[in-house]
Amino acid sequence: RNTRTHYHAALFCPPGMGHIIPFLELAKHLVSHNIVTKITFFLPSINNNNPKPQVETNVLQSSMEQNQFDIVHLPPIDVPTNTDVGLKLAIIMEESIPLICHEISTMTTPKPTILITELFGSLVLPVAEKFNMSKLVFWPSNAWIVALALHTPTLDKVVEGEYTDQDDFIQIPGSNPIRPCDLFAPMLHRSDQLYHEYLQMCKEMRKFDGILVNTFHELEAKTIAALRNGKISKVPIYPIGPLIREAKRQNCDDENRNYVIDWLDKQEEESVIYVSLGSGYTMSHEQIKEMALGLELGGKKFVWSLRPPSTKAGYGNYLTAGEDTESNGIPKSQASVRAFPDEFYKIQNQGLVVMDWAPQLEILKHSSIGGFLSHCGWNSILESVSSGVPIVGWPLFADQLMSAELMAKEIGIGIRLNVNQSTKVVGSEEIGKSIWKIMDKEDIEGCAMRKRVKELKQIAEKSWSQDGPSFCEMVNAFVKIGHTNGV
Ligand code: UDP
Repeated sequence: RNTRTHYHAALFCPPGMGHIIPFLELAKHLVSHNIVTKITFFLPSINNNNPKPQVETNVLQSSMEQNQFDIVHLPPIDVPTNTDVGLKLAIIMEESIPLICHEISTMTTPKPTILITELFGSLVLPVAEKFNMSKLVFWPSNAWIVALALHTPTLDKVVEGEYTDQDDFIQIPGSNPIRPCDLFAPMLHRSDQLYHEYLQMCKEMRKFDGILVNTFHELEAKTIAALRNGKISKVPIYPIGPLIREAKRQNCDDENRNYVIDWLDKQEEESVIYVSLGSGYTMSHEQIKEMALGLELGGKKFVWSLRPPSTKAGYGNYLTAGEDTESNGIPKSQASVRAFPDEFYKIQNQGLVVMDWAPQLEILKHSSIGGFLSHCGWNSILESVSSGVPIVGWPLFADQLMSAELMAKEIGIGIRLNVNQSTKVVGSEEIGKSIWKIMDKEDIEGCAMRKRVKELKQIAEKSWSQDGPSFCEMVNAFVKIGHTNGV
């Protein structure tokens, strides 16, 4: 089978590790499987006087060294401080249009013929139109949220009042209904500018030539079928997941990595729970206190990837890349003098705390890990599936609530914790009980979740083999847009 093509793809994704990591993976797969021959990666940045987090620089650098693609850092964009994260991303996308156009216009090598971007990037559609490029969305989250986004322009016409005030679940033709309180963050307040930007993105996304989704059939068969029967939208959908990094290509300093892995080497098989609430989230004192008490009650050893507590009372604080030098990349010595709740210090002998960037995938793949307490970022869920590790989900915002629901109810590989949506806190007892359930060898439901996640791990391993289902979906997407010769 000859999939060799001679095409140049322009990739454009918003800032933040949760976006950059899957986009780099997509780029790597496109090049290594000869689906395109050249990739130019356009990366936007914010003008905020803060240095880029070291981890982002490391991730980009190692990808550049190992792969054949160019990275173009676009000039920094001014974004008002105190702007909501989603709105910030929308502003960055729109302001990037002239910057990308300038870069493409001045290219001396053959110009890109395909634009690949994500939901927020759908606002840069004019770039594709100006240069007559084919256009694909790459969605680094699940198909259920794609279905919601593609259906939002219809919902906007038929639903009256706030979506969150609806008595009934939000219906999506052929897919699973959504509890109003779980909706994707931009839909929470219809009068906000963010909702209008999001609605525009959803409309633009319907104009793309196809949507590549980082999922696979066995995770979301029902929604993938619904997206393909034409009742939600006519845009072709290609499940090409799971696209995740290789465990050996983790980017964190060796000292940190060795410390964790050496400790894990000494633990019993499937005896440790890995705890992480994502790449950009700092927890509040209250959250750290309940988590510490919950870990104590759960009674399992742990590895906890943790940033110092947020200075904002009551809440954690989401940071986009490079925004908070206080907690991104803080030296360990300084972190240790920060005040954590007493409960945190009490459990120090039960496990390990990683104050910096943790080698998450390597940790998850380690045989000592038996569970993952996660915020349910979609990359984290895919990494856990690919490692055969069941999940306790503590979703916080954005797409995490729907992803946690999907993980627990549809995929059946873990438990979703009940989070108080105004305080974002979960009681310690619930945390302790849930850890016990997913890891205890005697628990019948826990056994079923572990069995299921291990089956999915096997399926995930084959998806990107030559002629595996996700590889074939990706090739089909490029055949459909006419970017192929001889397949
Ligand atoms: N990650 C990591 N070390 C950390 C925190 C996060 O390697 O200490 C990686 C994780 O493996 C995943 C990504 O960062 O690939 C986070 O993406 P996800 O979608 O799970 O959550 P987000 O951080 O975007 O909310």
